[in-house]
Parts: sequence; C-alpha cells; structure tokens
Amino acid sequence: MALPKDVYQALQDMVGPENVSDDIFVTQGYSKQPWPHGILGRRRPDAIILPGQVEDVQAIIKLANRHRFSVIPAGNYNWDVPQKENTVILDTKRMNRIIEIDGDSIYAVVEPGVTHAQLQAEAMKKGLICNSSWAGGQSSVLANTTFFGGGGLGYRAGYGNRTMLAMEWVLPTGEILRTGSEGVKGAGYFWPEGPGPDIRGLIRGFFGVHGGLGMVTKMGIKLLPWPGPFTFPCEGVSPHYRVPLPPDRFRFHMVRYQNFENLIDAMYKIGRAEIGATLQRNPSLMFPQWETTSKEDFWKAWESGYFQREARYIITVLLMGFSSKRQLEYEEKVLQEIIWETGGEDIPENDRLYQTIDGAEWLRCGVAPRVMRFTGTHYFIMIGYDSLDHSYKMANLADELRKYSLPDFVDVDDCDWICAYDFAWHADAECAIAPELTEEDMTKAVEAAIAGIKASIDEKLYCVVQDAATHPILGLVYGNYHQLLKKIKKALDPKNIANPPHPISVE
Ligand SMILES: Cc1cc2nc3c(=O)[nH]c(=O)nc-3n(C[C@H](O)[C@H](O)[C@H](O)COP(=O)(O)OP(=O)(O)OC[C@H]3O[C@@H](n4cnc5c(N)ncnc54)[C@H](O)[C@@H]3O)c2cc1C
Repeated sequence: MALPKDVYQALQDMVGPENVSDDIFVTQGYSKQPWPHGILGRRRPDAIILPGQVEDVQAIIKLANRHRFSVIPAGNYNWDVPQKENTVILDTKRMNRIIEIDGDSIYAVVEPGVTHAQLQAEAMKKGLICNSSWAGGQSSVLANTTFFGGGGLGYRAGYGNRTMLAMEWVLPTGEILRTGSEGVKGAGYFWPEGPGPDIRGLIRGFFGVHGGLGMVTKMGIKLLPWPGPFTFPCEGVSPHYRVPLPPDRFRFHMVRYQNFENLIDAMYKIGRAEIGATLQRNPSLMFPQWETTSKEDFWKAWESGYFQREARYIITVLLMGFSSKRQLEYEEKVLQEIIWETGGEDIPENDRLYQTIDGAEWLRCGVAPRVMRFTGTHYFIMIGYDSLDHSYKMANLADELRKYSLPDFVDVDDCDWICAYDFAWHADAECAIAPELTEEDMTKAVEAAIAGIKASIDEKLYCVVQDAATHPILGLVYGNYHQLLKKIKKALDPKNIANPPHPISVE
C-alpha cells in the first residue's frame, strides 16, 4: 500500500524530493533481510526518507502521528524489516557527521549515520579507538551501541551501556529528550548520568528496542587510547587481510585447551588479572568461516575434519600495550603464566590455525557477517548473558539440543561463541544453528529458537532473546517485566507509530 499522495508530498517538502523515494526498486532493496523474521515476514516499506538533521526527524515523526504511519530508524539497516503496511524507513546516510572527537576526555559525538569504519579512521588520527562490534565496519556506531554491541573491544571498552554517553533523542511524539550531561542543552555529550535523566537502559536492553521508543539523533561515545599508527595499516583483500601493527604494542594469541572447563577457567583468570584488550572463546565453526571465500571453499575446509580436530577449545586473546611497551611485556608474562597454570597450548604464529585470521580484525573488522558465508544466513537457538559459568552451561545445553531434539539443519556442531566483557565480569554465549536460506528452514529455525528459549528457562538460564515476539513469554518468567514495558510504550508512543510492534505489541 502506498502512502497517500498528500503525505508523500509533505515528506518531499520537508526533506527535498531527492531525499524521498517510493520507487519499487529502492523499496525492494530495503526489504532484504537474511534472518528468519526477514525471510518469513518480508515486505517492502512504503517509502524511504533520508532526513538531514534532527528537525527533519521531528517533522517526519509528527507527520506520522497525524497520519498514522509507522517509522523505522535505520543505521546500516541490516536487522529490521517492516512488519506492517504503512511503514517508512528513515535512512540516516545524510546524518553522518562526527560532531566532535574530544581527545582530552576521550569521547566522540556522532550522528546515527556514522559508521564504525568512519569513526575508527578519524579517532585513530587522534590516537583513540572506539569499540568496534563484530558486525562490520559498515554498521552504524549509534545503532550498534543501542542495539547489540557484541564482540570487538567490548572486553575492554564495556558492553553497549558503558560506551553510551549522553543522547539527543526524538521521542515517538516528536519531542526532543536530552539525557545525561546534555540535559543542560549545549553542555556536551561527555557524561551519561546527569543532570538530565540517565535512561540508557530504556533504549538499550540486550537487543535494544528497535526504534520502538523513538530515534536517537546524537550520542556521546566513549573511546579508548589507541597505541597504533594514525592510519590503520591494512593490506590485502577480504578475508585475507594482514595488518602489520607494531609488535611491541600488539600481540595476538590463540590458545588451545583439551576441554571446556580449563578453557573457562583460563578466561576467568585472564579477566581477574585485568590483562588483554579482547577475550573470546571462538567455536571451531568460526575458523573456516573466517578464512574461506565461498560456500564451496567452506565445505571443503569443514569436511576435511581439520577444524573439528584442531579448533575445538580455543580462546583468542589480543594483548595491547595501551599505555606503553612495558604494559605489553607485563601482560605477555602474565598470560604465559596463566596458560601454563591452566594447561593451555599457545598456538605458534606459523601454525595453519593461527593463519586463519589476523588478530587486528578484533579492532576494525567485518568478521561476524562471514558467519553467513556457508548457507547465506544463520540463527540462534539461544543467547545467554550473565557470567562465564552461565555461558558454559548454555553452550552445553545448546549441544544437547542440537544432538537430540532439534530438526536437522546443515550438519555443523560446535557453533557456540562466548565473549567476555569488562575483564570477564560478565559474558555472553551465542549458540547458533545453520539453516538454509529457505522458507522451510527458516520456519524450522524459529521453532528451534522457541525450543531453545524453553530449554533455557527450564534450566534456569537467562535467555536474552528478548524482542517483540518473546517479551510476552519471557515476561511471565522474569517478573512480569513485559507489563511494565507495555506501559512505557503506551506512555511514550501513544499513537503507536514508532516501529510497531517494537519493543512490545500494545494491540
Ligand atoms: C551476519 C551478521 C552478524 C552480526 N554480528 C554481530 C556482532 O558480532 N555483534 C553485534 O553487535 N551485532 C551483530 N549483528 C547484529 C546487527 O546487525 C548489528 O548490531 C549492527 O551493528 C547494527 O547496525 P546497523 O547500522 O545495521 O543497524 P540497523 O539494523 O540499521 O539498526 C539496528 C536496530 O536499531 C534501530 N535503530 C537504528 N538506528 C537507530 C536510532 N538512530 N535510534 C534508535 N534506534 C535505532 C533499528 O530500527 C534496528 O531495530 C550482526 C548482524 C548480521 C547480519
């Protein structure tokens, strides 16, 4: 269904005719979506709008309230799909300014169209770095910070909430809310906790609220010191990048264990010693995903059995001398001690496994999208977020489910990715499956995910696959939070125009 002519005209008047389109070829491009919800519920939006500034966003949202159409804010747009007719997408490509990089207080202020690659490149020129997620350099820093923010430098920079500072936020009514230090207009975006309201939790959660409570138009982002060169020295062609970073400041380790228990023990010890810039358990499936360039290559590598044999219990650790060469030397000594204590094997640099990836991909990368390499999609049966012990339990439960009770997907096991955050004080486990990109497999994938949610509830594990579809079920187990969420949605979005049914259906 198309937008009424007068509404379309009003949108053109607001942002200029060249920045609105309802062309079928354009809107079709925005109905792409590799996830089950995208494949099964795919539909074209009614129009794409490119706002240029916060006032445009306000005007569009006010118009949406008057004429009752839905609005989805987008960064790089690799997650959402319109779930209703009468939906427009606000693509923020024109709102791609880095407003400020403050080298003294080490933070940046960005608009929603700023990508990780863009911010990293500019921050590095000033000796700083931002938390890049694993979602890829093309994703929006702001969208990723509100939405997920997994992988990358999260072990050091913190997970989402900790890198998110003050915000300028257009509410679903079109009013502007300024949070944290920007609560005093013009004071700046350096601090999240006051004097304006600190309601980061409202926009964030684990999977965010998908624009269901409005659109953030500016955000302060915490940075870290960058001890590398001002220009990222990347050579080669994806996925075979090589990044010759100074060896006296950067060292990447892959450490092999004989069992999962020792591996988790080592991750705890590394965190407690407060060393490392990144720390993850990477499942054997990831290694051929990283290095191969086609489905055919992937299957050749996987079916050789090499990765199942050699990469079953591996942790990857990137050490970085943030402050000095001596820091790196010290961390190297501590890491070697921990590897020795926990019975690990430090894989040498000339080993075939070590060659699968360059450790610098943890800093400025597009690693995660490669998980789609072998079937064109992938999905989760469970995602859990708590401690490393919790991640370990969840990975084991996922293994059981894959073995005994899930439908047959492409036959790969050991897909459980564990990322440690904040020096391993917390961690998440992402337990994947590999459906084919067909409607049939996608339907089965959704069923598998529901089975995963049920199993984690039964085992008293904390399941974070919390979105519009699952809030009403999980709310019943987790203190009826869904009822509170519904009240918040109704209060902030009385006309239900902000990407319904997110964060929760009020219908
Ligand atoms: C193959 C694959 C692998 C992935 N791996 C990772 C990973 O390793 N780590 C990770 O963190 N994520 C991962 N993701 C998930 C997700 O794609 C990323 O979090 C990504 O950074 C989102 O950025 P984007 O610019 O595409 O956001 P979008 O998809 O455009 O937005 C994400 C959500 O935030 C909302 N949103 C966008 N802009 C705003 C705004 N200005 N205000 C309020 N809400 C807004 C959108 O409506 C949407 O619901 C992966 C996705 C894919 C497809």
